[in-house]
Amino acid sequence: MPTTLVIATHNPKKAGEMVTILNSQFPDLTIKTLADYPDAPEPEETGTTYAENAAIKAESAAQATGEWCLADDAGLEIDALTGELGIYSKRFAGEETPFPEKMAIILDHLKSTPEPQRGARFNCHIALARPGLPTEHFSAICPGRIAHSPSGNGGFGYDPIFWLPEMNCTMADLTAEQKHAISHRGQVLRAFADWLKNQ
Ligand code: IMP
Repeated sequence: MPTTLVIATHNPKKAGEMVTILNSQFPDLTIKTLADYPDAPEPEETGTTYAENAAIKAESAAQATGEWCLADDAGLEIDALTGELGIYSKRFAGEETPFPEKMAIILDHLKSTPEPQRGARFNCHIALARPGLPTEHFSAICPGRIAHSPSGNGGFGYDPIFWLPEMNCTMADLTAEQKHAISHRGQVLRAFADWLKNQ
């Protein structure tokens, strides 16, 4: 069990979610983010799978910091778009395009798609890189639907169009605690936490 863990992401909202979830499980662990290491590089995500991209980010950070580093790679998979956006979720419609515009494009693509074909899921993979040790991998899925219009101000990214039938709202309508209880990231970090407690 390390004394310090670095969350290897340059996305402050994602880092915030990961720190909150892990802090609740490991109050004595010092959790840092790449904001604490301004010189750490942001590697290109050249992998062809979530696992490869998560490992690229975690291993690059472990090399730069010398600490145990955890990175996640997530994607929104939309049945009506044959599983896209997948690993290209961040780059969809251009990396710098604001999320309201990206979501409007998706809703426009699906404007004639009937309810039964609006299935989707968030897929989340995390990699733990440890200097001198093999990289460990964990993954989880959160199933849902694509809403007909955006709703909510919580979460980040594609949350406003990710409809959760059992909650009767979108992921962005949930409080942070509600999101972490069911989300792909909450699930995968709990699996990681169970593993870490046995190290
Ligand atoms: P990456 O893992 O940082 O490459 O994220 C892939 C894309 O999915 C980014 O555009 C994120 O904003 C989005 N994304 C990742 N996790 C979530 C989430 O929990 N909710 C909504 N969008 C997300």
